Amino acid sequence: MNDDSRFDVVVIGSGPGGYVGAIRAAQLGLRTAIVEKDSTFGGTCLNVGCIPSKALLDSSHRFMEISQNAVNHGIVTEHVGLDLATMMGRKDKIVGTLCSGVGALLKANKVATFEGEGSVLSAGEVAVKQESGDTQVLTTDNIILATGSVPASLGDLAFDHELVVDSTDALCFETVPDKLIVVGGGAVGLELASVWSRLGAEVTVVELMDQLIPGCDSQVSRLLERVLSKQGIKILLESSVTQCDQNRDIATVTVECRKNGKIELIADKVLVAVGRRPFTLGLGLEDVGIATDPKSGFIPVDERFMTNVGRIYAIGDVITGPMLAHKAQAEGIAVAEIIAGKSGQVNYNTIPAIVYTEPEVAVVGKTQEQLEQENTEYKSGIFHFKHNGRALAAGSTEGFVKILADKNTDRVLGVHMIGPWVSDLIAEAVTVMEFGGSAEDIALTVHSHPTLSEVVMEAAMDSDNRSIHSVPKKGLIQETEDRIQETE
Ligand SMILES: Cc1cc2nc3c(=O)[nH]c(=O)nc-3n(C[C@H](O)[C@H](O)[C@H](O)COP(=O)(O)OP(=O)(O)OC[C@H]3O[C@@H](n4cnc5c(N)ncnc54)[C@H](O)[C@@H]3O)c2cc1C
Repeated sequence: MNDDSRFDVVVIGSGPGGYVGAIRAAQLGLRTAIVEKDSTFGGTCLNVGCIPSKALLDSSHRFMEISQNAVNHGIVTEHVGLDLATMMGRKDKIVGTLCSGVGALLKANKVATFEGEGSVLSAGEVAVKQESGDTQVLTTDNIILATGSVPASLGDLAFDHELVVDSTDALCFETVPDKLIVVGGGAVGLELASVWSRLGAEVTVVELMDQLIPGCDSQVSRLLERVLSKQGIKILLESSVTQCDQNRDIATVTVECRKNGKIELIADKVLVAVGRRPFTLGLGLEDVGIATDPKSGFIPVDERFMTNVGRIYAIGDVITGPMLAHKAQAEGIAVAEIIAGKSGQVNYNTIPAIVYTEPEVAVVGKTQEQLEQENTEYKSGIFHFKHNGRALAAGSTEGFVKILADKNTDRVLGVHMIGPWVSDLIAEAVTVMEFGGSAEDIALTVHSHPTLSEVVMEAAMDSDNRSIHSVPKKGLIQETEDRIQETE
């Protein structure tokens, strides 16, 4: 920790927004400090979000592969057991490595670090309240608020962190629940539902809207629903929890379903995963006149990420936009560049979003539904993984890539993927869209064979009705419908 207390920039919060912003500011020659109230750097993403969830998804995927699918490859296993403590230990080790890696990066870039709760005293002063009760005041020309978000709770389902839990709790269960109810069919809910279902829990997902991952391409969403159901996860759409009675270790949850009326479910864990809310508690915003949105709690900012008080900026989950680590990082870089007098900016039209289920979902840009609403003339191309050699070789054939392009200019407007490793495949679509590229650009780019990336190329070819490796009898859109129906 650093004694010096005079800075060009003080960042409050060391999540992906805050630490990336601090490093970029330091790279640009600004004397930079970062304040973090937790004992580790990295925020939600590294400690209780992206990284631990992916570690458990990977471990549980291997468990499922070995126990259920190895036999298809001619690999015979006698007995596959689960050592949950080791699985959790592996996850914690990965988290520890990455968090201390952030500390090392901050140090290497000469960012001064302060442990304690930061609050804004004025446009040029940040107080850091340490655990000991001592307070240090840092003076600065610019303040970046990057205090992130925390899990949102749901009316009657107050967290007790034993029976009714949040995502942080669900990353640390000591035993596999017998019956887990997941309230919320978004990315976090579905990823944790997958982890515990693969490890043996009986999982029911309750989603208020008429599809999983609300806002997602409806064909992608429907295929995912069918595949997850096939994997054993029970999914209740257009359903809401109306009551939760707790008796010792068991919850009796009443669910109102549009299709089936009122049903009662029993669970030993109820995970509430209905989203996150911006976190500004203790920041002292009212004292310096920074308004938060009364409904959502977000801090309003202008296009330069500046709040209504000059030289106080906000980025990441604490402002509007998708609550994603890479969005927070992009904003961290942009705001540092703006403060340094450069032209930092974020292209919100090309921020991808991923759900790390099996198959994965990865999307960027406009959906078909949005284009129709906007009356934009578009064409679409689809290609299925079942026609791809690498996917067949890997035994991961579920899913497709859909490319939407402007009917007149061929410019790519949106790409929607469900399938193996689409979390990586989406990068090509993002790059093409960032460059204002066309479907033809993708179609005419040589893709290695055999790779999953050929599915992206063939989807682009299909948007011009010249896909080589499928013989659609009724057209690929209809084939997609048929495939979704088959996956029951
Ligand atoms: C289970 C789960 C899985 C996720 N998976 C993904 C994923 O795969 N991909 C993805 O892109 N996103 C994912 N996310 C979302 C991602 O974690 C967040 O969008 C991202 O962490 C936001 O970054 P941030 O910097 O804005 O805030 P945060 O990461 O929330 O960091 C804020 C930091 O500020 C600190 N802080 C708050 N107040 C103060 C204060 N007064 N003083 C000092 N410090 C303070 C906090 O302790 C925290 O360290 C996931 C989230 C969860 C919960």
